[in-house]
Amino acid sequence: MKVPEIFGENVFDLKVMQEKLPKEVFRSLKETIEKGTMLDPNIAGVVANAMKDWAVEKGATHYTHWFQPMTGVTAEKHDSFISPTKDGKVIMDFSGKELVVGESDASSFPSGGVRATFEARGYTAWDPTSYAFIKDGTLCIPSTFFSYSGEVLDKKTPLLRSMRALNEQALRILRLFGNTSVKRVYPTVGAEQEYFLIDRKMYDARKDLVLSGRTLFGAKPPKGQELEDHYFGPIKLRVSAFMKELDEELWKLGIFAKTEHNEVAPSQHELAPIFTVTNLASDQNQLIMETMKKVATRHGLYCLLHEKPFKGVNGSGKHNNWSMSTDKGMNLLDPGSTPAENGQFMLFLMAVIAAVDDYQDLLRLTVTSAGNDHRLGANEAPPAIVSIYLGEELQEVIDALEHGVKYKGKTKQIMKLGVDTLPELPKDTTDRNRTSPFAFTGNKFEFRMLGSTFSIAGPNIIVNTIVAEELRRFADQLEGAKDFNAALHELVVKTIKAHKRIIFNGNNYSEEWTKEAEKRGLLNLKNSAEALPRFADKKNVEMFERHHVFTEREVHSRMEIMLENYCKVLCIEGQTMIEMGRQDIYPAVNSYILELCKVIERKEKMSLPADSEKKVVGRLSADNEAMFAKAEEIEKLLADAKTYTDAAKQAKFFAEKVIPVMEEMRAFADDMEGYTAKKYWPFPTYADILFSVV
Ligand code: ADP
Ligand code: MG
Repeated sequence: MKVPEIFGENVFDLKVMQEKLPKEVFRSLKETIEKGTMLDPNIAGVVANAMKDWAVEKGATHYTHWFQPMTGVTAEKHDSFISPTKDGKVIMDFSGKELVVGESDASSFPSGGVRATFEARGYTAWDPTSYAFIKDGTLCIPSTFFSYSGEVLDKKTPLLRSMRALNEQALRILRLFGNTSVKRVYPTVGAEQEYFLIDRKMYDARKDLVLSGRTLFGAKPPKGQELEDHYFGPIKLRVSAFMKELDEELWKLGIFAKTEHNEVAPSQHELAPIFTVTNLASDQNQLIMETMKKVATRHGLYCLLHEKPFKGVNGSGKHNNWSMSTDKGMNLLDPGSTPAENGQFMLFLMAVIAAVDDYQDLLRLTVTSAGNDHRLGANEAPPAIVSIYLGEELQEVIDALEHGVKYKGKTKQIMKLGVDTLPELPKDTTDRNRTSPFAFTGNKFEFRMLGSTFSIAGPNIIVNTIVAEELRRFADQLEGAKDFNAALHELVVKTIKAHKRIIFNGNNYSEEWTKEAEKRGLLNLKNSAEALPRFADKKNVEMFERHHVFTEREVHSRMEIMLENYCKVLCIEGQTMIEMGRQDIYPAVNSYILELCKVIERKEKMSLPADSEKKVVGRLSADNEAMFAKAEEIEKLLADAKTYTDAAKQAKFFAEKVIPVMEEMRAFADDMEGYTAKKYWPFPTYADILFSVV
């Protein structure tokens, strides 16, 4: 395989555009892509035609607007290029209008009350800033999605808006440092993706995996991850064949799949791409997840993206590596080597620190979901408390600045920002603190709280906007300062003093941290039901409106959708548990009890002791009765849950009343698993599943 040749072969990227488009059209489109300017409507027809010719040449027969509704996955509706001719034949045709707008029935997508049911029309609009690509014989046109009344119904549009907000404010800061050549600042993201690969047969045999993506029952296997022999371990042949094909598919889509390795848990793996501009990174992450599922199927495997497929075994997350870059390729979170660069770095760093502190609630709620609730705060992922890790060296610099004392490496005088150079900070090559939810890793931040199924758009909308907001406040204070360097120094010291509570360099998993964080007044929002309602807090709505990222209505609609989704997922899980409990576990255990009873009867006839059989029968029948009763209880609770009209209250009901009973029901079932003969147990066990790929 010649990687450079296949790389990006299915993408209508700048290189292809330059080849296929007339010079003027190419220049205009490039300007739109790079500067985010308005698209010239006159060029749409030419672009559409060139795109179609290119796609047809590559065997495509259909096109689709490819968009990201608030379901968290992507949506597409395929139309073929065919257009009838007078002589009863067809030609392949694709107009500018078809490229630019599509109509879609919005009523089947979540809208959180924004779209009244009588107005079901929704529109998709071409987003020229993301490249079109071919997937399974279809030309996919990345698009935004909105309602007839203009409200946004997708994740892409607010992401683009947040990028624009960040650009605006970051440019103001750069101008203050005398930088007039930079025209654009954009956030960059590299999203590391964790996943499980299991044998397809195991998946098919588990109703819970099929319906809810995670196991709702399952006793702890004799071997899990305790030997720590899986992390970075040798990759099994079937997995390596999968990874090879996955890489190839992704490369063709122009995705820089770079690192593939085994993760901590058995059957768990990770893929890391090379970072890129956030909107592309977001599209690409969606494609990565989709392609993983598809390729797995071809290999007789199933790819589990759920945050917590197996209880007691590490779950899967997504690390969102985030930074800001200029169009000149300068990373704004790179300390640099001159005093001016250092001062600028420090200011951008302060903006992130202040943003994370001021908007802990938003960061927390943007990574919340029924699935991720099993990870955050559950001793494996970062805790539910948001904090920042800076590392020893940077911490020392900040301490020196705060207290106006000498930095240890310097002998002469107190460090002055904008005048002195900072000591060189080591670039992080390994994860030095894997427990921090938001860790500085040398020249970027790693936001580690995301769940593995997440669209990264949501969390990045928040990160971009809250940093833009702090940069705005900084720019307001610094513009017009008489002595810029003095004002800069003062602002940085003030920010450190005001926000240092959010910095924590220790072990985030420890109990002491929970106590310490409480003392510091940091939020500890334990689950979705607690976190999500904060979305619409006044300070948050004001900020979103100020930067034109969300209107108040859009905030409410998004909050509603997230709350509804949380409740729906739990409802499905509850119902699946009831079904599996009643239809699979209950009769299976009873059959085994019957067999044991026969044994007891015969043994007694022969005057042989049957104590152990009786013990097992006693235990199993007690468990089975109890499990059955819990199923009835859940059924009743689910019916009660339906009576709520307020989504926040309903979510609270699920979190506080339904989940505990689901856990109780599971405990009885898991106990029975340990006492029931293997051939009677109705589905594969954890050991069967986790070690299924050989
Ligand atoms: P490590 O292996 O120590 O976790 P890497 O430097 O390999 O760190 O990066 C991990 C991820 O972070 C990769 O996806 C990488 O592309 C991404 N990354 C690196 N630099 C940046 C940056 N400036 N902005 C966003 N993501 C970045
Ligand atoms: Mg990482």
